[in-house]
Amino acid sequence: MLCKVCDKNTFSLAIDLHEQPLANIFLQKHELGKEPRYPLRLIYCHHCSTAQLDCSVKKEEVFMNHTYLSGMTSSLKTHFKNIAEEVDSRFFKNKKKKSALDIGSNDGTQLTYFKELGYDILGIEAAESVANIANQNGIETLAAFFNLETADKINRQFDLINAAGVFFHLEELHSVTAAIKKYLSEDGVFTVQFMYMKSIMDNGAFDQIYHEHLLFYTLQTIEYLLNRHGLALFDAYLSPIHGGSIMGFVSHKGKRNPTSRLQQMRESEAKSGCNHLDAYVQFAKKIATIKRENLAFLEKCKQKKQTIYGMGAPVKGNTLLNYFDIGKETLDFLVEKNELRRNLFSPGKHIPIAIEKELSSPPDVYYVLAWNFKEEILKNNKHLIDQGVEFYFPINPK
Ligand SMILES: [Zn+2]
Repeated sequence: MLCKVCDKNTFSLAIDLHEQPLANIFLQKHELGKEPRYPLRLIYCHHCSTAQLDCSVKKEEVFMNHTYLSGMTSSLKTHFKNIAEEVDSRFFKNKKKKSALDIGSNDGTQLTYFKELGYDILGIEAAESVANIANQNGIETLAAFFNLETADKINRQFDLINAAGVFFHLEELHSVTAAIKKYLSEDGVFTVQFMYMKSIMDNGAFDQIYHEHLLFYTLQTIEYLLNRHGLALFDAYLSPIHGGSIMGFVSHKGKRNPTSRLQQMRESEAKSGCNHLDAYVQFAKKIATIKRENLAFLEKCKQKKQTIYGMGAPVKGNTLLNYFDIGKETLDFLVEKNELRRNLFSPGKHIPIAIEKELSSPPDVYYVLAWNFKEEILKNNKHLIDQGVEFYFPINPK
């Protein structure tokens, strides 16, 4: 196997989460127990420092049937709105005709805000059912994988290209990056949002590791990739979304000067040592501690005969449940807002999904798998907290 970023082949094993089913495919009753399992291991490239999965499941298997909808979460919607406003006011305010392409556009929530600002928009989304929702909402969306072939078919330049999260799960990394280079207009900006490996380590957020996420970047490693394709990062900042993401701004190489905050982030990253193998050794120890603490808490609840439900059924929750070996004996349900998941079960542990508004009564304890939306969850459930329902967050970002 060769490194997906630099094509070299000197690796060390960094994190081993054992064999796991695909975390983003929730199962129907007749599928239970038949889901395939694949090793979930993060390896570290000694040449370019990129952490990556050593097993890549075919993209068709992972992305075509997902049921995740980004428009479900109000803090995500605010985040998307802010991004559109920021990008427009910084780069394209005075442009009369402007266009935006969103790669992995999901239900079109991000593009809605660009459309409101007068952009000519196009979304690319691999999951057909999700692309259909976007089209029904008036957001023009192509159900396809974005790569050079798809881009050549569209054959249009865009002022703004956005990719949120997808840089983690690109099987065709170089084809995608080359297509962005080819179809980004001369003065265009590519906004890339990716979970920051340094934050994942700082926060102990190991549940961000699942088969959909093939690559885990730092500034150093994403810059290595972009530079290979004639693109360059010129600005970045840390956003709290997903428990610590980078919002990166990219142009054609040599087009824009790096900002001072980017320089500062590069320096603090270098100082942290997160691009070295030892940082992963420390991360593995931190994961073991989190596991011990979580299992001790759940055990205590069970001894007190308390009922415990999972709050949210995020994809990352399945990494956590499978790795901690928490099943139906502990959590009666995973409680979700997303009705596309009605009557489904979690992969691996087979915990049934319950739709939030259909619950007859709350449990004693909510084990919050969607821990990264802590503020929103505590705010939305104030009435339950007042009734004495406990909310436990398995991972607590710094
Ligand atoms: Zn490499």
